[in-house]
Amino acid sequence: MAQADKVVVIVGAGFGGLNAARALRRAPVQVVLVDRNNYHLFQPLLYQVATAGLEPEEIARPARAILRGQRNFDFRMVDVTQVDFAAKRLETSAGPISYDFLVLAPGGETNFFGLESMQRHGLGLKDIPDAIEIRNHVLTCFEQAMLEPDAEKRRELLTFIVVGGGPTGVEMAGALSELIRLVLVKDYPRLNIKDVRILLLEATDKLLAAMPERLREAAVKTLWRKWIDVRFGAQVADYDGKQIRLKSGEIIPAQTVIWAAGVRASPLNATLGVAPGRQGRIPVQPTLQVPGHPEVFIIGDAAYLEQDGEPLPMVAPVAIQMGQFVARNIKRQLRGQPLEPFRYRDQGTLATIGRNAAVANVYGIKATGFVAWVMWLGIHIIQLIGFRNKLFVLINWAWDYFFYERAARLITRD
Ligand SMILES: Cc1cc2nc3c(=O)[nH]c(=O)nc-3n(C[C@H](O)[C@H](O)[C@H](O)COP(=O)(O)OP(=O)(O)OC[C@H]3O[C@@H](n4cnc5c(N)ncnc54)[C@H](O)[C@@H]3O)c2cc1C
Repeated sequence: MAQADKVVVIVGAGFGGLNAARALRRAPVQVVLVDRNNYHLFQPLLYQVATAGLEPEEIARPARAILRGQRNFDFRMVDVTQVDFAAKRLETSAGPISYDFLVLAPGGETNFFGLESMQRHGLGLKDIPDAIEIRNHVLTCFEQAMLEPDAEKRRELLTFIVVGGGPTGVEMAGALSELIRLVLVKDYPRLNIKDVRILLLEATDKLLAAMPERLREAAVKTLWRKWIDVRFGAQVADYDGKQIRLKSGEIIPAQTVIWAAGVRASPLNATLGVAPGRQGRIPVQPTLQVPGHPEVFIIGDAAYLEQDGEPLPMVAPVAIQMGQFVARNIKRQLRGQPLEPFRYRDQGTLATIGRNAAVANVYGIKATGFVAWVMWLGIHIIQLIGFRNKLFVLINWAWDYFFYERAARLITRD
């Protein structure tokens, strides 16, 4: 078979898969990108959809539109259900797809750590439907609170709990506070703002564990200033949709619990017949190959790889760099050259806590407040895919900033 006929199938149009597909544009291969959704999603801004700041289409773009100029590219919207390494074939919702090389980049899912009651009644944040569900739920709570004569039930409707003090939990709590205190107070003039409570529950004794101590402390202070009740050592025992019970025995009545406490690898990993590592991630060789299957690579959140004795984090830059790197290794394999080991270049972390407030540790530069917030804005605009999305997000942010508004305050279902 001629090299030009080799088929590279990439599962997942997320950060890893999309970058792998792009980096193979000049390779003598056919690239088939498959995803259950027809779009690439910029997950770091999902919380802004959940808090009515952005519309879903501003943070997502069809995979076909992104790669339509690439001649060796094809897209299939299918759900991959199984991978047969021996037959070099994927089983999908639309029948089998064969490959010569396979890049698995199916990402992750919300990890409820076996807390079934939370899985049933809590709100996860991983995809567009999750974000819309949170938006609908929060706005519906306000509508119901306006109709509720009983003061205790009203407070229960207006108590919002975010679980998890990582970047997603911190950003979610900050954005929720601003939605309520800067925007919804105007929509609900008869609302007693003292009835509203926002709690951020963290099981350990620190927020934003990957950040230096000074930035962690700055984040806590900013959250307090935004009227967010930050609780450390708060481990959730269960939640019945009306009240959350902590392991300490404390019970907090709340109709809204947003679970931002963890992610684990995609359930597709469990079908591969390879023993998974931590968080269900599949241990890969430094070349990103699956041991025993040199034509199969796993990248991004689905892969487990240690560097300097630490597992690589489940973040977008790891997936992006792995996507670009895996393409180079496939090209080496096609040329019969030895493969190279992957090395992650950590650019740092950022988290925003609302207007003029963020913490940043980027390329060794540590910043808080307005400077960090401007860095956060710039980096996110640069990373968003598509000029239209960049423009619309910028316009929305400017509008919200100057007029204290949120454009997308619609309840789109009962
Ligand atoms: C709310 C939230 C906020 C985040 N914020 C940040 C942040 O600020 N900074 C940061 O660096 N990282 C952040 N992350 C993490 C970051 O988004 C992930 O690390 C990154 O998306 C991983 O990229 P990936 O390519 O491995 O997977 P993903 O980007 O998740 O893409 C996986 C793709 O695979 C598809 N897929 C999965 N299973 C199947 C299947 N069986 N069949 C077909 N298709 C399938 C999915 O539809 C998806 O398109 C955040 C994540 C979330 C959820």
